[in-house]
Amino acid sequence: MLGIPNKDRSVFKVFELNNLGRMFMITRNVEDYLEVILDLQDKKGYIKAKDIAEKLEVSRPSVSEMIKKLSEDKYIQYQKYGGIIITSKGMRLGREIKKRHSLLVEFLKIIGVGEENAQKDACKLEHDISPETIDCLIKFVEYLNLSTEERRKEIEK
Ligand code: MN
Repeated sequence: MLGIPNKDRSVFKVFELNNLGRMFMITRNVEDYLEVILDLQDKKGYIKAKDIAEKLEVSRPSVSEMIKKLSEDKYIQYQKYGGIIITSKGMRLGREIKKRHSLLVEFLKIIGVGEENAQKDACKLEHDISPETIDCLIKFVEYLNLSTEERRKEIEK
């Protein structure tokens, strides 16, 4: 059995919660927004509705509507004068999605997909992929990253 490092284990937490029905349904839309919001937070240090609209290529009214929903669900906090703050709940989900995203990009590149399509397709796959497939992909990508000697040891285990 190939080991999954701890840093990757948290990828499954969202799924486990989903499977147990403890977490309410997270729509693809919410995930897309949180991913972009976290990106903006990381890259710019602040989050503006205008930037979200640009990144997701959606209208300002749809962004306003989603901002309302995200803040009702406590993923973000909406402040006076248009400031948006991501909460720890939002941060947690956003990070899971980004982890799934980079794993999928890595896998798609291994099989020969170019950077641009790998990025685009990862964004589509990351929401609908099953925990089992994610699990197998992590093991596969890790296995490929091992040296010949390490692979031999894994097989002997
Ligand atoms: Mn993505």
